[in-house]
Amino acid sequence: MKNTTTRGILQRLSEGIVQGAEGYVFELERRGYIKAGPYVPEVVLDFPEAVKELHREFLRAGSEVMVALTYYAHREKLKDVGRENDLERMNRQAVRLANEIAREGDALVAGNICNTWAYDPGNARETSRLVQAMYEEQLTWAVEEGIDFVISETNDYLGEALIALEVIKQFGLPAMVTLASVQSNATRDGYDYVEACKMLEDAGADIVGLNCDRGPETMLPIVEKIRSTVNCYVAAQPVPYKTTALNPTFESLRTHAGEHAFPLALEPFLYNRFEMAAFARRARAIGVNYIGICCGGAPHYVRAMAEALGKTVPATKYSPAMELHPMLGTHVENKDQNFLANWKN
Ligand SMILES: [Zn+2]
Repeated sequence: MKNTTTRGILQRLSEGIVQGAEGYVFELERRGYIKAGPYVPEVVLDFPEAVKELHREFLRAGSEVMVALTYYAHREKLKDVGRENDLERMNRQAVRLANEIAREGDALVAGNICNTWAYDPGNARETSRLVQAMYEEQLTWAVEEGIDFVISETNDYLGEALIALEVIKQFGLPAMVTLASVQSNATRDGYDYVEACKMLEDAGADIVGLNCDRGPETMLPIVEKIRSTVNCYVAAQPVPYKTTALNPTFESLRTHAGEHAFPLALEPFLYNRFEMAAFARRARAIGVNYIGICCGGAPHYVRAMAEALGKTVPATKYSPAMELHPMLGTHVENKDQNFLANWKN
């Protein structure tokens, strides 16, 4: 059980912005520990040190929340890779790893549940029971291992998000419920994203918003509308990719040759750290309370965002000192070659 006495998520949010960081599955896939396709976090059992290291990197970079790596660690997904028998072990271990690293700083631990791919609005009665049972078993284990609140994320259906919220509330924990935004303006069961967030607030969610799928350019306009509609806390965790009005999600990005860039050929579309720092400032200006990053996220972005929000974090010790660079430093007379003069804003 968790035995730290950190301030809870709601207290922290009442005092100011809370910074999160996600994209564990994406990053651990890039590092060779998770198989793209099924994207099941087997790494939790097979290479726990790799999970701990990424938690630690996000912690040092400024994330105040260690999100337990239970994304897709539910019954449906584990069946796909023949590891259904590891379900409980994987879920418990993920929360333990998050707790272990959270205690190296002053971070919170979030339990994590997500879309199940089992929910079917056409057969809502039966599939709702199935989804509810999956969430209940995951959160029972998470609560026993010790969590501070729960993030229910990448919800394609408002119906499924409401089930998640109900289960989180059964456990008496603060609930952050964020929607996927793959479609142009509404959930897969037809609720406008803004309206859906309002309904989640009305049903008791403490934090609502969007995560994944969209880069800052195409996520922030929706988040701004959510902010002006709900009274509760708002979260924005975009992917660090250059999505546009024409290709508003990273799933829709295409290479020059017209091929799908998602999910394995997205590098040409990545933001740089300065652009993610600018996102953090824009999100703060809009009034977003929980600012984070999703798939594609990495520690250098998290640190740049933290510093943009005025924080000094452990990894700040090694933040760039380009004035000391032999070719790009402040002594360079040609301003075009002065790196920081070009990027600092
Ligand atoms: Zn994501």
